[in-house]
Amino acid sequence: MRCYNLWINGKDVPAIGGKAAIRKSPAHGADLASFALGTAGDLNAAVAAAKSAEGAWANSGCIERAALLTKLADLMEAKLDQLAEIEAEEVGKPIKDGYGELSHSINLTRYAAALAWEIPGRAQTHHGTSALGIVSYEPIGVVGMITPWNFPAVTLFQKLPYALAAGCTVVVKPSEMTAGTTLEIARLAKAAGFPDGVINVVTGKGSVVGNAMVEHPDVNMISFTGSTPVGQQIGEKCARQVKRAGLELGGKAANIVFADADLDDALDGVVLGTILNQGEECVAGTRLLVEKSIAEDFSAKLAERMSMLRVGLPLDKESDMGAMIHEDHMNSVLDHIETAKKEGATILCGGGRLTGGDYDKGYFIAPTILGNVTPKMTYFREEVFGPVISITTFETVDEAVALANDTEYGLGNGMWTKDIDKAHQVSKRLKSGTVWVNTFLDGAPQMPFGGYKRSGLGRENGKEGLTEFMQVKSTFFRLGKRSKSLPHTA
Ligand code: NAD
Repeated sequence: MRCYNLWINGKDVPAIGGKAAIRKSPAHGADLASFALGTAGDLNAAVAAAKSAEGAWANSGCIERAALLTKLADLMEAKLDQLAEIEAEEVGKPIKDGYGELSHSINLTRYAAALAWEIPGRAQTHHGTSALGIVSYEPIGVVGMITPWNFPAVTLFQKLPYALAAGCTVVVKPSEMTAGTTLEIARLAKAAGFPDGVINVVTGKGSVVGNAMVEHPDVNMISFTGSTPVGQQIGEKCARQVKRAGLELGGKAANIVFADADLDDALDGVVLGTILNQGEECVAGTRLLVEKSIAEDFSAKLAERMSMLRVGLPLDKESDMGAMIHEDHMNSVLDHIETAKKEGATILCGGGRLTGGDYDKGYFIAPTILGNVTPKMTYFREEVFGPVISITTFETVDEAVALANDTEYGLGNGMWTKDIDKAHQVSKRLKSGTVWVNTFLDGAPQMPFGGYKRSGLGRENGKEGLTEFMQVKSTFFRLGKRSKSLPHTA
């Protein structure tokens, strides 16, 4: 079992109360890690470290920050096997997803290093010879980052390297169940040469450490990824303090399959969108909208492919899907399946817990398809966070768009068609921060990510992911002898 303390000011520090929580494997029950249960006092110490490191870090050269980020990416690459294993075991996800997640996190770090060279700014030089304006982007200061359990590395790396590139110092509060990779990477950052205090990690409960972080007057911004209800509470508290909040929240993506699509590709993308990370994925394509003329055939083929998936242990390279994060969450997904059945859905495959042999030691659910789902049903409306997809049919493009947008969420949507005109028009009409065409859960670090509607505020990745952690200053110079009648500023 790996035992972790907190990480404050470049050192391993025990929590003030001396308490810890044990993370057991959701797949086989063995003890995996012990995480310190931090308190508000620990959080205060971490914020103090971040604040005292802030000035020097903000004023360091962007080339130095880029070099350190590149070094961190190199060290993560050298430890890829170990990091991917920790991620897979703690979350319960298959090791191939662990590798995918960590490799993407490394790419995000390299991209953020490149962005550090390109911190924006501009000069206004055309206001006559006696005036000069400078628009500069400055780091916002100490950033508090709160991350969820499903993608502990990627959700952190959509924030951390960008904030560091911008010149911010950071206190991270990872999920109390899956903090291993975050703590390992904080240590790697020290080895890479990041100054003490620039990155701090306080593990513990959201209601204790997370709440203290949100309320702390020296934390200038909260960057949160997690559920919509918790994000709403955090947003309210930040608003009261006039503190910036970046919120990456829940989703309920539609995956629209038009009859003119490459149906084999579409099947592949629909399966991936359902089962990646056991469906514990904010942009999982949980609502399949399929054109009526192909629905019967497509649904049958989908059921066939979903039934062939291998659900197994996280470290088994053959596993396509692992275990659900914990027993309560597994039960909540099973309850959703039961509710869908009561409301009139049919089960096309799966539909329950997997039992027998190794399955009895963990929380495994069979990949599940719900047929005949209508927008009124609970499954269509609520984020379920499991390997479950619903099927709803449509006959026209307008109907498909209306169904896709019939949700309070707006994180991502996908569509499959060979008609580029239709793809472009439909993309413009979908109310979500990301739209995939003939692919799903795909992208590049340069593409901003974030939600419309109740899926969030702000953007991560891309150039927007850098300026998210900056504030804009206008400095106006009057040069030479001061004139008696100054022009209006507006
Ligand atoms: P959660 O909201 O329960 O917890 C997220 C984090 O917030 C955890 O670290 C938790 O300890 C902390 N927290 C809980 N209560 C808090 C409080 N009162 N104050 C401060 N912090 C608090 O979410 P989860 O169950 O860990 O993750 C699943 C959710 O995350 C899903 O809704 C999913 O859609 C969402 N998610 C969104 C994205 C995205 O990029 N939009 C990515 C991944 C996950």
